[in-house]
Amino acid sequence: MSSVQTVLLEWFRQHQRKLPWRGVTDPYKVLLSEVLLQQTRVEQTIPYYERFLARFPSLEALSRADQEDVLKVWQGCGYYARARNLHRLAQQVVAAGGVFPRTSSALRALPGIGPYTAAALASIAFGEPVAAVDGNVRRVLSRWYAWEKPTAGQIQQAAEALMAGLAQSQGPSPGDWNQALMELGATVCLPKNPACGRCPVARFCLGQAAPERYPGAKERKQRRLELTALVLQGPGGVYLEQRQGPILGGLWGVPMEEGPGALARLLVRFGLERAERLGSLRHEFTHRKLHIEVYRAPWVAGENPASRPLSRLDQKILALVEANLSSQHSPAG
Ligand code: SF4
Repeated sequence: MSSVQTVLLEWFRQHQRKLPWRGVTDPYKVLLSEVLLQQTRVEQTIPYYERFLARFPSLEALSRADQEDVLKVWQGCGYYARARNLHRLAQQVVAAGGVFPRTSSALRALPGIGPYTAAALASIAFGEPVAAVDGNVRRVLSRWYAWEKPTAGQIQQAAEALMAGLAQSQGPSPGDWNQALMELGATVCLPKNPACGRCPVARFCLGQAAPERYPGAKERKQRRLELTALVLQGPGGVYLEQRQGPILGGLWGVPMEEGPGALARLLVRFGLERAERLGSLRHEFTHRKLHIEVYRAPWVAGENPASRPLSRLDQKILALVEANLSSQHSPAG
């Protein structure tokens, strides 16, 4: 009788989606695809992957780039810390001779590489038999074993046991196996309404009678942040400054402060007496819900926002300013 590995790999060979990084084993390209996939849906990832490679075709080219250029190409993709880490990683690997470490444990010493990315990269690019566990794999394995509240260790052990079974059969690539599990999670064993009727491994699955029970929902707490943004408009555009800190650090945006008294602090900082309130916006990051009050004041000089890497949040703020201006200029009635 066929093993779950044989059945799933055969399904993967026949039904995998055609994606630009399929069959690619260049570690730089594999890493880029993995980093992008962690934050965006596959369809959105493809243009970023192609754009990034067109601009920085090799690790060497990326290592020589300015951080601002890297962020500009990444613009709109979110999670800018990942772009900054990718850039630092390129500089570090190139400085050490330009050759990637070949094992997941050595890869984990590089900037921004966690256990999942290290395992995915080592298995796909170098054939190391290590299990890569992401959210898709966690869900699929929880269902196979009908585990409502599996611990991370339990899932990891199960994934490693499956990888060990694959290694014994000598032949298929560990990278294909990891990708096959993820592909099943992404296209068949979906979080809601999994397609058990067309699932290639249904006969191995203990959870298919009530798949959505497994795994139980994880609680996710989102912190709420109150922010005030001050758009300073002058000849040539708006005043922009480079942000510091972990969230949008390295990107450019309008001056912003957090918490009570934020507007007063902004006015003092720019020597202004008052600013006009334009409205408010909401914006979400994975663990943060932002509420932003937007103000505007005239300023001595500004620059064209298109020339800088801006976050989506700043693009939203500037769109609010634009909408306000056009409503003021449209004929009354
Ligand atoms: S049978 Fe259903 S729940 Fe089980 S792995 Fe397949 S799609 Fe997921």
